Amino acid sequence: MQPLFVRIHESDNVGIIVNAEGVKPGAEFADGLIAAEAIPQSHKITLRDLGPGDAVLRYGAVIGHANRPIPRGSWVREALLDMPAAPALDELPLANATPADLPALEGYTFEGYRNPDGTVGTRNILGITTTVQCVAPTVDYAVQRIRAELLPRFPNVDDAVAVTHTYGCGVAIDAPGAAIPIRTIRNISHNPNFGGNPLVVSLGCEKLQPARLFSNDFPVLENNSIIRLQDEQGFEATVAAIMRAAETRLIKLDRRRRETCPASDLIVGLQCGGSDAFSGVTCNPAVGFAADLLVRAGATVMFSEVTEVRDAVHLLTARAASKEVALDLIREMRWYDEYLSQGQSDRSANTTPGNKRGGLNNIVEKSLGSVAKAGTTALKAVASHGEKVTAKGLVFAATPAGDFMCGTLQLASMNMHVFTTGEGSPYGLALVPVVKVSSRTTLAEKWPDLIDLDAGRIATGSATIQSIGWELFQLLLDVASGRRQTWAERWKLHNALTLFNPGPVT
Ligand code: CA
Repeated sequence: MQPLFVRIHESDNVGIIVNAEGVKPGAEFADGLIAAEAIPQSHKITLRDLGPGDAVLRYGAVIGHANRPIPRGSWVREALLDMPAAPALDELPLANATPADLPALEGYTFEGYRNPDGTVGTRNILGITTTVQCVAPTVDYAVQRIRAELLPRFPNVDDAVAVTHTYGCGVAIDAPGAAIPIRTIRNISHNPNFGGNPLVVSLGCEKLQPARLFSNDFPVLENNSIIRLQDEQGFEATVAAIMRAAETRLIKLDRRRRETCPASDLIVGLQCGGSDAFSGVTCNPAVGFAADLLVRAGATVMFSEVTEVRDAVHLLTARAASKEVALDLIREMRWYDEYLSQGQSDRSANTTPGNKRGGLNNIVEKSLGSVAKAGTTALKAVASHGEKVTAKGLVFAATPAGDFMCGTLQLASMNMHVFTTGEGSPYGLALVPVVKVSSRTTLAEKWPDLIDLDAGRIATGSATIQSIGWELFQLLLDVASGRRQTWAERWKLHNALTLFNPGPVT
């Protein structure tokens, strides 16, 4: 393969090396540019001479300033750049560039399980909620037996899943931060893929009592929906009680059938993990194109990861549907700035060794690539950590960027999940199908039984952002309908639910 780089924006003064094996010193590109040194795949090459203080431009935006001369053809490494400050939150544009709605996409449907509250499940799963970690091994034991002994009799039920976590006791439960883990557990318990009201297992003496967990929802819980371990006669009787309650629910769940639902009933959570410099060239823009298609079809698309939005926040507040939405986004950014500063940190703590090995020099470069997932439509609403999203269109749902916390918080609302990766992660969730999209073909070839869609073909020119975006849109409809399984579903890769608890522990 000839030496090849891609430039994303016409004003960029760096390109991204496409060749899987990188380029050697002296390698000549089609436009006459010569590599001054060896440069690995997905890392940046300077397209013109840069002097100290010059802005380094990628995505048409400043990702840093050269702190020494960087001659044309050089490898741009982290040490050569000074990182710009994050945009000041009190000087942001407010809804001054709201995009007009794109033409509606009519006629796209999927086969889903309609719930009484109007949401639609993409899977038919028995959910068992726990109030405290003390009961988790008991519930895990019961779930193993439910899967082995009961599920074979109920072929229309996809799985039984316990909502287990490390929260529930030993915490300052009245502290303001406690609201986040509590509402997250409550909203996950009502995830669209759990048909019916949750079955709840409590210990008895814990701080997070079922009445507190479900607050206003509590009266609507069905009779016999709460099992308290401290009221039961030993382990075997407890497991038998959980299994009896599970069986009653499985009989009902098994009678459910998929029905044709408009694509507008999809609630798709987007996130990235193990990103590299290609993520912002291939998979994230393709996911952004699919996000636009979903929004045009009336669906909800959530993007998240506060520390990966922070440096691009000025682009998003300008795109907000109203000043109120822009101010909601700024509120979430400010809250997180304060949270990080209490820990004597800031958003630059986000980038990982793998990100840097993959060519991402800093959080500014990572953020600009990350928000490409959000497509081009107006930002319609903002949700705080763990809140249930009800708005249609593009929504920012605040979460940390860590994959498991982000996925867990998005489970408060979503019925489908898209995960983009460059370095690679076998990530998966028990509650919703996770569609994994790779940034590079080399990863898709290395992990053919983990990656669902290869967006690396965009870099080599054998596919386009639009064609991969359409493939993903169609794949989401197929997976949502149960016509296709994702690789994470095939292998039952279920990462642990990981609650975000910013409140104190005791
Ligand atoms: Ca992530």
